[in-house]
Amino acid sequence: MRLFGLIGFPLSHSFSAGFFKKKFADENIFDAEYRLFPLTNISRLPELIEQQPDLQGFNITIPHKIEILPHLTHVSKVAFDAGAVNCVKIEREASGVKLYGFNTDIYGFRKSLLPLLKTYHYSALILGTGGAAKAVSYILLELGIGYIMVSRSSREKNVLQYSQLTEEIIKTNLLIINTTPAGMYPELDKHPDIPYQFLSSGHLLYDLIYNPSETKFLKKGKEYGAATKNGLQMLELQAEKSWEIWNS
Ligand code: NAP
Repeated sequence: MRLFGLIGFPLSHSFSAGFFKKKFADENIFDAEYRLFPLTNISRLPELIEQQPDLQGFNITIPHKIEILPHLTHVSKVAFDAGAVNCVKIEREASGVKLYGFNTDIYGFRKSLLPLLKTYHYSALILGTGGAAKAVSYILLELGIGYIMVSRSSREKNVLQYSQLTEEIIKTNLLIINTTPAGMYPELDKHPDIPYQFLSSGHLLYDLIYNPSETKFLKKGKEYGAATKNGLQMLELQAEKSWEIWNS
């Protein structure tokens, strides 16, 4: 049995286990299993890998996408440049265990965003400054879309606080991407604290959250005529890409 899985914490509402279970059943893949491995501290990763000798690859979610980097033998250039890894392939050799890190979020985000872009989406706001924000900023940079990050607390260069978002900033950044967990199940009433009243039909609001399928952020955007996109397609694309990597 080839074992795959997801590490992170908490994992109670993970999509991935259901996705792979269905994929394995639909595609008659009988020699693979995908399991959840809740890991509160990344320092316990070597222990997990030793205890699960059949584990051949895993995905990484909150809060370990950045802190896994020092634990890896190799990191793909894209994941290294983005500073976050969400997919690891394990190779067990006589000389020891090798861990190869990739970022398939980047692939999923790029492929799901491209068909929605209009010529006037040349500058963006990225809400949040965590692991997913790194994947998003990597793609925006590659596509030549300028961006400003928005944070509750960071005071770094090119990062604004939510209280600094003016009418002009909202009106000149027609692509707004939520990479925060605000509004994710079960906290359905939460939403990033932006001045929604300045949104228009020219805006595209992309929420990386996929549960619920329509967050309060997207609902409020729709009220002002904005186009919206949730994170489901990105999630499916990154999962398929991870499968491809584990089987390559
Ligand atoms: P993360 O590393 O924990 O970062 C999230 C960032 O959001 C934090 O750095 C924080 O930035 C901000 N934040 C956290 N809690 C917040 C709150 N209550 N209100 C406002 N801002 C908050 O998490 P992540 O790995 O980047 O993931 C973020 C979200 O993206 C999650 O909902 C995850 O499920 C989703 N995601 C979806 C996909 C997909 O395929 N669709 C892929 C990756 C991630 P500041 O402290 O600077 O404000």
